[in-house]
Amino acid sequence: MAIDKENSIAVVGGGLGGAATAALLQQAGYSVAVFEQAGTFEPAGAGIHLTPNVMRVLGHAGIDDALVRSGYVPESFTSRNLVSNSVRCALPLGDHAKERYGAPYLTVGRSVLHRELVNALRPDTVRYGKRLVGVDDHGKGVRMHFADGTTAEASCVIGADGLGSQVREVMHGAERPGFSGQIAYRATVPADTRIPVDRRCITKWWADESFVIGYPIDSRSGDYYFVAGTAAEAWTHPQSWVDGDKDEMLDAFAGSCDEVLSLLRAARSLSKWPLFERPPLQQWGRGRIALLGDACHPMRPHMAQGAAMAIEDGVLLLRCLEAEEETEAAFWRYAESRRERTGRVQAVSAENSWLRDPEDPAWVFGYDAMTVDLHPPALIRNDSH
Ligand SMILES: Cc1cc2nc3c(=O)[nH]c(=O)nc-3n(C[C@H](O)[C@H](O)[C@H](O)COP(=O)(O)OP(=O)(O)OC[C@H]3O[C@@H](n4cnc5c(N)ncnc54)[C@H](O)[C@@H]3O)c2cc1C
Repeated sequence: MAIDKENSIAVVGGGLGGAATAALLQQAGYSVAVFEQAGTFEPAGAGIHLTPNVMRVLGHAGIDDALVRSGYVPESFTSRNLVSNSVRCALPLGDHAKERYGAPYLTVGRSVLHRELVNALRPDTVRYGKRLVGVDDHGKGVRMHFADGTTAEASCVIGADGLGSQVREVMHGAERPGFSGQIAYRATVPADTRIPVDRRCITKWWADESFVIGYPIDSRSGDYYFVAGTAAEAWTHPQSWVDGDKDEMLDAFAGSCDEVLSLLRAARSLSKWPLFERPPLQQWGRGRIALLGDACHPMRPHMAQGAAMAIEDGVLLLRCLEAEEETEAAFWRYAESRRERTGRVQAVSAENSWLRDPEDPAWVFGYDAMTVDLHPPALIRNDSH
């Protein structure tokens, strides 16, 4: 029997991966509800790279034009030395990336992306204030339990609830993500602040233990954004980020070139974040429960692929639901189709080596989630995936 599109699919977590997956499922005719713990739409204010592999999907979802209007198409990704500012290499982007990969490389405010994804959903798709605390798979469907004491039923659950995923905890037990040994300062630099940096490009300055990456995020305002990462022994705060201290950041980057120091001094709205990661997961789901995005394969941000992987996951999940007769088989096939790619991206992200020296990024940017081969179906049905 084919999967019943009327039977509601629950997506837990309305972040970047959850909202994108729900929009793709709705566009394909599935009935979807998103359960989000936040009380209202809460866009986080930072920048994000949207590489051609994810822009292709966002084009398919019909939101690429709105993003291009708000964001910026950088001319290059230029690698420089953090101490001398000398150029290590430069990868042309702009028209070159669009011609080579069929979709642009864009940088944009994360909140703009999130807003466009949520706007792509039918009204009332997202149920806010629903913090999932438990899930039972009772064979014919799933029952979700929320912190406010309510429950909801669905045919299956997609856990898109991010780094501290409760859906993952239901399957694998409580297991905190590991601190990677790095923290990152994030800030914006308004257009009217003079900095000795080419605002048309993505520039990454490299040293052994530290890096700074800066890029434009808004073609209209001219705002620029940077992330400055450095080693730290531990993250001792209970929060997932804290306000950043500029003097502390400047101390950590003492000895950097004048261009970098000027950029760091120009910071507005400085925040400090821990970088967490988890090793690749063997079992992505069980029965009618599947994981995607950071819930499944969180990674350090050094390839700018965390959200891209979550959104690619959503496409492959949809394609497997379309290809299979039963949800369990679809979820198994989805996990098998995605594990190798996300594991490789996690490993390269952990190295912090992406585009430091000349390399061909085609294996990342050229991936087409809409047409890539699916893993062959299971000959014998396997309940864990
Ligand atoms: C410094 C930094 C820079 C980055 N830059 C990039 C970049 O340039 N490009 C890129 O592709 N990625 C980037 N990333 C990674 C990217 O932000 C994440 O990988 C992406 O947000 C993952 O999407 P997600 O949907 O899995 O999780 P999230 O976007 O985190 O969404 C999870 C959602 O689940 C909700 N939730 C959590 N628990 C529950 C619960 N129990 N019940 C209900 N709801 C719940 C949360 O409120 C949230 O809305 C960066 C990350 C960092 C830290």
